[in-house]
Amino acid sequence: MRLENKTALITGGSRGIGRDIAIKFAEEGADIIFLYRSDAQSAQALATIIESLGRKVFAFQVDVSNFDEVLKIRDAIEKKHKKIDILVNNAGVLRDSLFMKMSDSDWHTVIDINLTGVFNCTKAFLELLYRENQGVIVNIASIAGIYGNVGQTNYSASKAGIIGFTKALAKEAARYKVRVNCIAPGFIETGIWDDLPPKVYEAALKKIAVRKMGLPEHVSKTAVFLASEASSYITGQVVEVDGGIGLSVI
Ligand code: NAP
Repeated sequence: MRLENKTALITGGSRGIGRDIAIKFAEEGADIIFLYRSDAQSAQALATIIESLGRKVFAFQVDVSNFDEVLKIRDAIEKKHKKIDILVNNAGVLRDSLFMKMSDSDWHTVIDINLTGVFNCTKAFLELLYRENQGVIVNIASIAGIYGNVGQTNYSASKAGIIGFTKALAKEAARYKVRVNCIAPGFIETGIWDDLPPKVYEAALKKIAVRKMGLPEHVSKTAVFLASEASSYITGQVVEVDGGIGLSVI
């Protein structure tokens, strides 16, 4: 077991990629604390699965874009658990539209949740990692933050921000033996694509070298690697988990 005796905190754990990361981490021996925004039923279902794996699990409902809410959760977690070893900043949303049609509200919602949410959770929990003089942060970015994507100026900006944040924090955190990396997934089959028109889905598929959509487990297995001792000499990196979509330029 690669994460035995570790406690991992995962944001956006109730569904999709975050849910799979929580399960894989628990299978690798970690106790799990996860945050979710609204889907209490999915959160309860996940907690039951993690308990059945013999791990401790705690779920907190919080909006990661609200710093005061995140701080309250941090205080509760600190009292109960004293430490965390792994922070996965995964919570994220889409509000896609062409830039000329993009509303001020859709811009701010995506930046506030995807990017400021990463700031808020890292700001709240980093001290717990520094105090232990060890730890790992895994941020979930996107290939949109590397290559850009039509209809996603807000989302691409938020994910490019996460990549810059990861590299800068990796330099600061290294002296506390805390590693900071990010994963840039391509198209991964989760609820986040529920509103994607079939035409766009087909067009995306054609750009993927391996000609199939990714699964949450492709991302969560990479997250296990980045959270474990196996990646102890890796920090400040962006790992693309995208079936080769980034190769599609030529
Ligand atoms: P998803 O299925 O829509 O799940 C999103 C998760 O984030 C849910 O647990 C949701 O909680 C939580 N969340 C949303 N807003 C939140 C907020 N304000 N505060 C706290 N939690 C919040 O999404 P996903 O596809 O698994 O995506 C996970 C991450 O991977 C995101 O950062 C996304 O940008 C990134 N990503 C995904 C893909 C992909 O193809 N799926 C590709 C690249 C990057 P509730 O359920 O309670 O609302």
